[in-house]
Amino acid sequence: MSSIDIKHGSEGPRHDPYSYTEITVTRESGATVCIHFGLIEWIEVNGIRSDTEYKVASEIFEEHAGISIEVAQKTYERQATTCGECGGTDLREQPGFPGETLYFCRRCDVVVHCHSTKRQLFELIAVRRHLRVPSLVQAAREGVKK
Ligand SMILES: [Zn+2]
Repeated sequence: MSSIDIKHGSEGPRHDPYSYTEITVTRESGATVCIHFGLIEWIEVNGIRSDTEYKVASEIFEEHAGISIEVAQKTYERQATTCGECGGTDLREQPGFPGETLYFCRRCDVVVHCHSTKRQLFELIAVRRHLRVPSLVQAAREGVKK
């Protein structure tokens, strides 16, 4: 199965920061494509980065990811709001580390995703049956450090 990861952050001078979005798609074959758009645009295919304008980058992204940027974003949002265990969408919020919100499935009590406002980082936590909640919290914390 392909996986999608989306990160938001800021770049540019400290007095005039600019927000960016980075979407990474990893194909079943292990091939990866990552598009970055904000102050600058680039596309990275299997670790090789090229600076290019958004239009060209989005075409390269679609070719390698097999889906458009819009579809990747919608799919990611759906994954982030759907429990990987039961498919449920009934989540409860719980504060994590400062600036962090963890979303738990009400039925399974597992972390579905973690949202950090502090660093504008949005990390999807892979829910694994054998992981207990504290290790997921730890994984969320490590995700934020990146
Ligand atoms: Zn669930």
